[in-house]
Amino acid sequence: CLLSLATGLVLSRGKGTSDGSGGSRSASGKPVIGLSMDTLKEERWIADRDLFIAQAQALGAQVEVRSANSDDTRQLRDVESLITAGVDALVIIPHNGAAMARAVEMAHAEGIPVLSYDRLITDAEPDLYITFDNIKVGEFQAKFLADKIPAGGKLRVLRIYGAKTDNNAKLFKQGQDNILQPLIDAGKVEVVFEDWAEDWKPENAKKITNAAITKAGQNIDAILASNDGTAGGAIQALIEEGLSGKVIVTGQDADLAACQRIVAGTQTMTVYKPLTQLAKRAADLAVKLAKRQPLIAKAETDNGKTQVPSVLLDIVSVTKENIRETIVKDGFRKEADVFGK
Ligand code: BGC
Repeated sequence: CLLSLATGLVLSRGKGTSDGSGGSRSASGKPVIGLSMDTLKEERWIADRDLFIAQAQALGAQVEVRSANSDDTRQLRDVESLITAGVDALVIIPHNGAAMARAVEMAHAEGIPVLSYDRLITDAEPDLYITFDNIKVGEFQAKFLADKIPAGGKLRVLRIYGAKTDNNAKLFKQGQDNILQPLIDAGKVEVVFEDWAEDWKPENAKKITNAAITKAGQNIDAILASNDGTAGGAIQALIEEGLSGKVIVTGQDADLAACQRIVAGTQTMTVYKPLTQLAKRAADLAVKLAKRQPLIAKAETDNGKTQVPSVLLDIVSVTKENIRETIVKDGFRKEADVFGK
């Protein structure tokens, strides 16, 4: 369905401080966008921030950034301070999708539109959501494992999910389940251990892997890690047990360290999400929101409260075989960095 998100729709949700003429609330007259980030811990978020700022600036806007270090109270304070600073639009990457519902309410009370970036804000009415196809990410990770099931045998899998507070982590799991459940039912996949890595932390993934090895010994063929950070933690545990390179490990993000591990053979795949597309599209949309210009979203996502107009971007499954023609060719990573020459 084609949803047209017009100025009136955005402003009708709040008191509305703009007259819809595209005027900015900042002293410079430039539209100002507030970017509230969960964290800058994973490498990807630094790229998201820098690409977003560059594109917004190219479009004549200014960006105010805050990062909450995975703390919900701090992220709410960040949003409050951005509202007080007079931003024209807010872009939020929530640490906790449900906790940031309050941030959307605060922004709307001041007539400020909100774009939910990469991760969905639930239980509220964000004006727009831009992300990759997260269910497909999980499906790609699990499909990779499905292809590795030995003929006539089964694949014993450790599943490491992401942060429970992140709606994406649930979508990745959902995508993985779509592929794995029939294989589990058919006895072709056995889940030997599973857990959620709190706050997506590599050290938590390492602990989960240690616990899985304690339970299953060497009877683990594959680790379905939901991102590269947790893959890195799991691989650290494998290294300590002398198992690195012997166990299939999935990931996502195309972090440089993960790309290098893929080339070295300690990680087996990653999912490349073209961040440049995400950040640029998001900046284009945020500037339009800030100027109260109409915009179009072709998809919608149910967030428990409403159908959020959404922009969904495509992703790519990457292994040692296609890393050159995907991640490197796209300019996301330099050949010399990935291959160390
Ligand atoms: C993002 C992933 C990222 C993870 C941890 C998810 O919401 O989609 O790209 O690895 O959060 O930051």
